[in-house]
Amino acid sequence: MTTNNLGLYIHIPFCRQKCKYCDFLSFPCTSEQVYGEYVTAVGMEMDMRREDCAGYETDSVFIGGGTPSLLSPEDLTRLMEKVRENFRVTDDAEITIEANPASLTRDKIAAYLAAGINRISIGIQSFDNQVLRRLGRLHDKNEAFQKIQMARKAGFDNISIDLMFGIPEQSNKTWLDSVRQGIFLGPQHISLYSLELEKGTPLYREVYEEKKFDPTPEIIDREMYHDAVELLKQAGYRHYEISNTARPGFESRHNLKYWSYQEYLGVGPGASSFFGGKRFRNYAKMNAYINAIKHRTVPMDAATIEHYSELEEMGIYVFTGLRKEEGISLTDFRQRFEVDLFSVYDPAILRRHKGMINLYDNRLYLTDAGRDVSNRIMAEFV
Ligand code: SF4
Repeated sequence: MTTNNLGLYIHIPFCRQKCKYCDFLSFPCTSEQVYGEYVTAVGMEMDMRREDCAGYETDSVFIGGGTPSLLSPEDLTRLMEKVRENFRVTDDAEITIEANPASLTRDKIAAYLAAGINRISIGIQSFDNQVLRRLGRLHDKNEAFQKIQMARKAGFDNISIDLMFGIPEQSNKTWLDSVRQGIFLGPQHISLYSLELEKGTPLYREVYEEKKFDPTPEIIDREMYHDAVELLKQAGYRHYEISNTARPGFESRHNLKYWSYQEYLGVGPGASSFFGGKRFRNYAKMNAYINAIKHRTVPMDAATIEHYSELEEMGIYVFTGLRKEEGISLTDFRQRFEVDLFSVYDPAILRRHKGMINLYDNRLYLTDAGRDVSNRIMAEFV
């Protein structure tokens, strides 16, 4: 079930301030001292994981958040030294950092490149200032343009940007303008996310309690998605996963691990892992996390260890694999689980969802129409 390759995820749980739609695990914090202490703590967690990971080659590292670009060049360099000290990072590893345009600077970009980071993922969300304000983002359109160009000029040749649609009262026209501007800037990878309004966030309150804005109807949300995918395909991007497009050869290796049943280890509070045949998360509360580190114990939250049956694991394999354009290989399924997929699942699924899910050349995959109703189809396998 395991491979010798590992994806390492490092969570940086700080943001200068919370965006109005965000319910990710991040804390508002502006103290450089706290960032520095946190880097020391997460470095100690990596020290503790060294032995467990001795048999693995780390071929992808993802520094995500939160806002990793808040870290100073010195702290970032220290963090990457800890990575190399504790993990066998392959020469061709994909090493990504997430950055927010508002905190990205020339010095930081230089430090990333010097530390061997070869991919930068910039959280743009939109090139429309009104939409950016509605989301509570700290940057504006000009800064987004500037920082993408700054990263490229400094030497990054693998740049990803995130764009968001389905934002209350965002028109399809302004959305597609953002997609066009994204394409114009020429990043190698563009992710597309439909905004989920999560209870408890300020934007949720503004929409559903204060009725300041209308939510985006589902039918418009789907239209935005399809129109954007079409534009991106015409511009030469491959729609390799439901929410991700890339120039051929620039698909994210790290993200593909999540959808290809490969192992990954997450460090930092709340980070998830699929490692050594187990699925688990670290303590999400900063206090509990730091306490564990102080006592030199791995900060894994034992209450989060998932014990799945073989059938449930098969469901996870299919559910995540169908997110990819290429879908899943029946041969790979048989090798992993020593059983044929259609002896576990009813072959009539193909008839029931005709035109939505296809079997071709020993691969099972969703069609474009199927991706719209992916949850309904995937539910057949869990
Ligand atoms: S930058 Fe990202 S993690 Fe931080 S508050 Fe905004 S959406 Fe959340």
